[in-house]
Amino acid sequence: DVRVRFAPSPTGPLHIGGVRTALFNYLFAKKHNGTFVLRIEDTDQNRYVEGAENYIIESLKWCGIPFDEGVGTNEKYGPYRQSERKHLYKQYADQLIASGNAYYAFDTAEELDAHRKNHEAKGKTFIYNWHNRLKLNNSLSLSEADVKAKLDAGEDYVIRFLSPQDETLHLTDIIRGNITIDTNILDDKVLFKADGMPTYHLANIVDDYLMKITHVIRGEEWLPSLALHYQLYKAFGWEAPKFAHLPLILKPTGKGKLSKRDGDKLGFPVFPLAYKDEKTGDISRGYREDGYFPEAVVNFLAFLGWNPGTEQEIFSLDELIQAFDLSRVNKSGARFDPDKIKWFNHHYMQEQNNDILAEQFKLLYPELKDIDVNYIALVINLIKERATFVDDFWNLGHFFFETPSDLDEKSVKKAWKEGSAELMTELTGIISNIEDFTVDTIQTTVKGWITSKEIGFGKVMMPLRLALVGALQGPDVFDIMYLIGKDESLRRIENTIN
Ligand code: GLU
Repeated sequence: DVRVRFAPSPTGPLHIGGVRTALFNYLFAKKHNGTFVLRIEDTDQNRYVEGAENYIIESLKWCGIPFDEGVGTNEKYGPYRQSERKHLYKQYADQLIASGNAYYAFDTAEELDAHRKNHEAKGKTFIYNWHNRLKLNNSLSLSEADVKAKLDAGEDYVIRFLSPQDETLHLTDIIRGNITIDTNILDDKVLFKADGMPTYHLANIVDDYLMKITHVIRGEEWLPSLALHYQLYKAFGWEAPKFAHLPLILKPTGKGKLSKRDGDKLGFPVFPLAYKDEKTGDISRGYREDGYFPEAVVNFLAFLGWNPGTEQEIFSLDELIQAFDLSRVNKSGARFDPDKIKWFNHHYMQEQNNDILAEQFKLLYPELKDIDVNYIALVINLIKERATFVDDFWNLGHFFFETPSDLDEKSVKKAWKEGSAELMTELTGIISNIEDFTVDTIQTTVKGWITSKEIGFGKVMMPLRLALVGALQGPDVFDIMYLIGKDESLRRIENTIN
């Protein structure tokens, strides 16, 4: 059975890269009738941010990609917060010591710093591995009695992984294929820390094992850890899951990795939900608050590094599940295009329910407080074709809700000619006489009148539109007249004549 996990660290808001990782895990799980697990990796207490876990869960919910197992949901292999699994990890570190794959190290931070500086002064880099470890303060360089004495005395220690000398590791990644690594470049990573907590590496491997994870799908930034993770599985004697490292998300220019700060700098969101930094008070914008539909965000994210191999771009979540395949995920970075997500939003706008849009629109504009939602929904039906966001409705259709206060100058120049006033006066008479004020009758009557006068349509339609809208824009003139009604139409035409 396929079991995948999304394992964020609650160190701040989840950005778009994290959501993409969650989405790919979700799609892969659903495609294979598997299970999508959410695990919170909060072993690093220094970087813990209050509220971040909640933000992650809310974000997944908003995107419509809920987890099957995790904090508060179907806690089969729980707890799913690593801080609550604290007691579990030490025995695994001990196991690695017993099997000779790990060792105690007593070097203080100051000592390590001094070694680093010493090496730098000689133009070398300090690596804590077979190059140096026998000269350092650890259970490989000390006598057994000394080690015991230090441990008994309660001296601070860490547990490090013993990386092998002169070996070549053969790793496989579903997206990147075969990778070979020379172990001489690896350092002896810390697995367990002085504060009694495991590091990411140990906790991550132990939990993936205990939670029976079959596929690890995560960002490219974790590729450098793959060699260690492979070795940890081997040292424990466990079968490793399959790995897939997703490509980086690049800035809109294509140069460099998209950072959490780019959104606010470049004027588009990179977070699913708006986020307030409690320390600085800064608010980062979010897709939800900026008026994006979750379907648009998901469809857009699916294409960051994946493609279906066909021309099709619009995919519902179900269609994505059907089409998704890790073998179609690219190795190379995926450029983040803020215009493309707008394009998706415009598409999904057309599929939204007008009554719901009307409620949302009403909330945004106090001007709409007393206006009937059914009326607003009818307006939206006429203008949504040109809208990307709910917020656009005001610019596209404010004249449905208020009499235009002044006329756009350029439009006046173009539309209001000699004879316009006379034509409009005559038109008010025609309109007053329409009994059955429907789009069809208005249209037939007005067009019939224009034809009978043997003048160009523009001579009437342009000043008429100007009067109704205040500019030469907007949907069909007869639709507008019908919706605002006979009296208001007449009033606007008369206003313009005077
Ligand atoms: N806690 C890691 C993160 O924040 C998990 C990486 C992984 O999936 O192994 O992304």
